[in-house]
Amino acid sequence: MRLNTIAREIRACTRCGLHKGRQKAIPGEGPGGARIMLVGEAPGREEDIQGRPFVGRSGRLLDESLKKAGLRRGDLFITSVVKCRPPKNRIPLKCEWEKCIQAHLWRQIDAIDPAIICLLGGVATKALLGMDRLSEGRGRIFRRGNRVFFPTYHPAGAGRNATWYRIFSEDMARLHSLAQSK
Ligand code: URA
Repeated sequence: MRLNTIAREIRACTRCGLHKGRQKAIPGEGPGGARIMLVGEAPGREEDIQGRPFVGRSGRLLDESLKKAGLRRGDLFITSVVKCRPPKNRIPLKCEWEKCIQAHLWRQIDAIDPAIICLLGGVATKALLGMDRLSEGRGRIFRRGNRVFFPTYHPAGAGRNATWYRIFSEDMARLHSLAQSK
């Protein structure tokens, strides 16, 4: 399945209630052959307006950390577990991310076949690894079937806590070397 076919389906998706409040669905962006995939939580206000992932405040923080780690944003595929903005930026519900991952994210992962999938924050880590606490998994590598996952903080969380920001930046540097060694 080609990525742009999946993106077209995402833009027309009505599987869960989130589609009712969206301006734009956000399939994600990046090259089809990306070695690293970043998976966040849910689009926010700015993403909903622009139709692009991580372009608001957490996006600026993400860009800064990627740059420090020597990673180029344009080399990565960036998306989230749900593709539409939840009302008032609430946390996406399990019934929303379950449907979205099943219908879209797994197919994006299969199309891209990345060397490593970095999970940004507790929601992505819970949704893809079934882990209730990010602290159980942060900074560790998990293999599930033929996929490799690397959970870390969400950039929004890292922006609120100097220690988390430092750890998040170190994790981005580690992500860079992990992707090179695979
Ligand atoms: N936060 C996310 O998790 N995803 C986005 O696309 C933007 C902010």
